[in-house]
Amino acid sequence: MTEGIPERVRAVRRRIEAAAAACGRDPAEIRLVAVSKTWPPQAVVAAHEAGLGVFGENYVQEARDKIAALAALPLRWHLIGHLQTNKAKFAVRLFDLIHTLDSVRLAREIDRLAARLPKVQDVLIQVSLAGEETKSGASPAEVPALLAEASRLSHLRVLGLMTIPPYFDDPERARPYFARLRALRDRLEEESGIALPELSMGMTGDFEAAIAEGATLVRIGTAIFGNRP
Ligand SMILES: *Cc1c(COP(=O)(O)O)cnc(C)c1O
Repeated sequence: MTEGIPERVRAVRRRIEAAAAACGRDPAEIRLVAVSKTWPPQAVVAAHEAGLGVFGENYVQEARDKIAALAALPLRWHLIGHLQTNKAKFAVRLFDLIHTLDSVRLAREIDRLAARLPKVQDVLIQVSLAGEETKSGASPAEVPALLAEASRLSHLRVLGLMTIPPYFDDPERARPYFARLRALRDRLEEESGIALPELSMGMTGDFEAAIAEGATLVRIGTAIFGNRP
């Protein structure tokens, strides 16, 4: 189960460096979020021993158990799955960064719960660029109002945008979505005056294309841990 993780971590790092070099970016600008959903704590330990420190989880309940089991290690955890308002209480305790803010209601709830701890919760706004009703994420048209409202909340800090493009076999077809997320970020910064340095985009199948379009956080599971059980 943990076999091969060190080699795969090295291979992913080399691919990130090569993708950064190919477009003239500093590889240090690109942070790897190792997506450990469905994998047991020992897989996370193996990835940590291979040098990784930031892990992404999709489900709050699964993350609670895993983070508790690994409390002795200096790990950072990111929530990359949809967050229901009724789970926000756990999310603000567990996660350094929530990638999936998608409504004003959720922003207000995160702010209220973070104020109690107290902490300032870092978040990204998840943007749905394909317009698929089933996918979570705010539409590009909704994002300016959500950003304006979120930026008024004192226990919430919006650091950037996240997206999950539709699945394509050819990563070049995902690339226009990454370019659109970056263009939306540039426009929002210009219009709002709020700095949005982070772009969370790119997974195992398409992270090189995402890096070419400006990704600062790549969320990679399969290329590190293997095919999910
Ligand atoms: C599962 C997941 C990933 C990782 O996907 P891989 O293809 O295994 O790299 C990244 N982002 C999100 C939002 C996910 O749900």
